[in-house]
This record gives sequence, C-alpha cells and structure tokens, in this order.
Amino acid sequence: DENLSNFSAPQEGVVISRFGKSADVEDNTGIIYRCSIRRTLPSLVTGDKVLWRESLEPNTNGIIEAVHPRHSELVRPDFYDGVKPVAANVDQIVIISAVLPELSFNIIDRYLVACEATNITPIIVLNKIDLLDKYKKQEIDQQLQIYTKIGYQVLYVSCLSQQGIEPLQKVLDDKISILVGQSGVGKSSIINLLLPHDQATLTGEVSEISGLGQHTTTSTRLYHLPNGGDIIDSPGIREFGLWHLDPEQVIGGFVEFDDYLGGCQFRDCNHLDTPGCLLQKAVSEGAIAPSRLDNYHRILQSMREVKAKTNKSY
Ligand code: GDP
Repeated sequence: DENLSNFSAPQEGVVISRFGKSADVEDNTGIIYRCSIRRTLPSLVTGDKVLWRESLEPNTNGIIEAVHPRHSELVRPDFYDGVKPVAANVDQIVIISAVLPELSFNIIDRYLVACEATNITPIIVLNKIDLLDKYKKQEIDQQLQIYTKIGYQVLYVSCLSQQGIEPLQKVLDDKISILVGQSGVGKSSIINLLLPHDQATLTGEVSEISGLGQHTTTSTRLYHLPNGGDIIDSPGIREFGLWHLDPEQVIGGFVEFDDYLGGCQFRDCNHLDTPGCLLQKAVSEGAIAPSRLDNYHRILQSMREVKAKTNKSY
C-alpha cells in the first residue's frame, strides 16, 4: 500500500469523470484533482460521492479511499456483465424529444419505463417548438396531456428562439440531471445553451497541470450549471435501451396502470385479449390512453425479440 504520509487527511469529493484506473474528483471548493482509485473499491462512476486524499507531492495523483452509498444508479447494458453502472446519484432524467426527426410516444414511453425502474424522476421536454405553427402546437399539446394527466412534468423549449429555456433552467436548479433522447433531438444544443462555455475545457486543464492521463470526449462527465444544479453528460446513456429490464419492471413503468392491475393479475391476464381485462376496460372508458397500453405491448414484444436473438434473460 501507499505511504499515506505523502497524502492529506481524507476529505469529501465528487467524481466528475472516470478514466480507466483513475478519476477526476472535485473538492468542496470546486478544484478538480486527478486521483487513483484504491483497488479494493467497487467500480466508481461519475456522480459518486467519495472520500479521497490529496497528494502532497507535485504532479502526483491523489487517492480515492472510500465511496458513499448511491441514492440512485444509472446502468447500461454490457455485453459481458449484463449491466454496467455509468452514473450515480442522478435526481432527474430529462427526456428530450422533438418533432424533427420524429415525435415518438413509443420512445418516450420506453424512457419512462427505464426511469421508473431506476426510481429517478423523469421530465419530458419537447424541443424545437419554433417549428410548430399554432395548430400543430395545439395538437401536440393535447397528445402530451396524456403525460401531464399521469403526473409527469412536460416542458416546451426551443434552442433556436430560446423559448422555454428559463423554465427548464428552474427545473434543473439544485438537482443532478441527465439528458436522454434520440440522436438529432437537440441534446447537445440544449447543453450548450445551459452551460457556461469555459467548462468544456476543464478536464483539459487538469491533464495539463498534472501531466497525467488523457481526456476522451466519449466519457461521462459532470458539469455545473450557473444556478446551482449539475448535468451529467453521458454518450453511453443518451440513448439507453431497455433490454435489461424484466417484464415485471415494464408494467411497473406504466404507473397509471397500477390501479387496475390487482383484479387482472389475479386471473393471470395478458392485458391483450383476456376477457374482462380491467386495463382494456380502463382504455375503453378513457381512463388510460390507448397509446400507452399499445406501447406497453410493443415494448414487451421487442424485449421478447431481443431475448430470442441473444438468448439472454435480463
Ligand atoms: P443531439 O443529437 O440530440 O445532440 O442534437 P443536436 O443538438 O446536435 O441537434 C440536432 C439538430 O437540430 C442540429 O442541426 C440543431 O441545430 C437542430 N436544433 C437543435 N435545437 C433546435 C431548435 O430548438 N429548433 C430548431 N429548429 N432546430 C434545432
């Protein structure tokens, strides 16, 4: 083991980014230190709260000694391990969608299922509203009321006109958020609008000072928002899939179904063509949106297809 006389007393910090066997840790004053990770520690990820020691010698890594329990964990499918954690302690997942390339409620529902399974609050954001005329806006607003009715927060923004950006900033205040959404919906544009421009170079500065390690733009990283919150940007999680969930978790992700499931499950209902299905009844009575039950079945079906192909059961 290292000789600890060369290190400061243990202090609190947050993992900003992870690079192989080392990590960038920010101290309470906002200074970032490149640190080695004690071998006995479980895998560390961006957002982890840690105990670490600063090296008292110049140009030498600090060392991370302990990690605090995570209140939430985002994982992505991993070929070898089933799932692999990529971010910790995230409070909110901001689901970005847009009319261009396409507005897909199926994809929104997939993200919502993933959010509910991780116990992280989802927020639905429709970007590019500058592309909508009054009538199209009304139409989409009506469709998105499915989600406000369930209890989800829905925000409308445009990076182009900057409409709705301030309310979005308010929602992100004092929280750790992560943006997800399909390619082309405007995630990078939104992040660029929200973040002060000097932050992108932070990691580069650290590598320059310490002369250690290398920054790759493909890694997950935590950024501070000007008003207090943080954003974790993670190329690996941006378009995360659902195939590591089991069917129980999928139905749990459709939170408004819950009131109707008791009676159905008792009779082993498939919620598709079982006579007397309470979910089907709720749809026909207007209590549940048809698209939601439809998307539930489509998500299950695509999970079955993936499972058949990979012969794995996540
Ligand atoms: P990402 O793949 O989700 O990161 O999406 P980008 O941020 O790269 O944006 C994809 C394209 O959409 C780019 O050409 C942006 O200029 C454009 N875009 C982003 N936000 C808006 C918006 O609010 N309105 C319009 N009209 N275009 C936008």
